[in-house]
Amino acid sequence: MPSGRTHDRITFWSLPLLVGLTYFFSDNKRLTLLIASSYLFSGLMFGPDLDIHSIQYKRWGIIRGMWLPYRYLFKHRSLFSHGLLIGTILRLLYLATVLMLVAIIGVMITQLIWTIDWSWQQSIHQIIKLVATRYSQEMIVVGVGLELGAISHIISDCIISTIKKHRRRTLKQTKNKKNSRRRCSSSAGKSKVK
Ligand SMILES: [Zn+2]
Repeated sequence: MPSGRTHDRITFWSLPLLVGLTYFFSDNKRLTLLIASSYLFSGLMFGPDLDIHSIQYKRWGIIRGMWLPYRYLFKHRSLFSHGLLIGTILRLLYLATVLMLVAIIGVMITQLIWTIDWSWQQSIHQIIKLVATRYSQEMIVVGVGLELGAISHIISDCIISTIKKHRRRTLKQTKNKKNSRRRCSSSAGKSKVK
């Protein structure tokens, strides 16, 4: 598994290519900025490694504890955190649930203190409606950026793990060869003494 720093480097190195390709095909600065920022966010803070005590997890600072249930729910490198599409969708759902819970608790406390007649169900419904009607296109673009960040992470996980496995196997084979040569030479030495 690559270290967090390696993942960061891959995210930064691939960013100019992503920006160039997005701008070339879309000719839209706003869309390019949205894709680039969501890709960066996904690579640095919202990636699949939120399922362990990773650099991505630590970057959430004092609110990183909100990812603890996620870590307990999903095993490291499982389909639910490192799976294509499913990983990003589950993280988005998880984050949305946490934010909604925080908002509900906040509204309930405010209602208790100031006795305001405010329906939180209606507020959430209005927010969802506003996002779905006005910002649906932007949400899709952000979703694509987040998923691209996750894909870059998953691919680098696979490539670097394969290289490491191959290196370990070669090292083991060379060690075994050396040991068998040593055994042969020592047995040859013993037979000469006889
Ligand atoms: Zn990973």
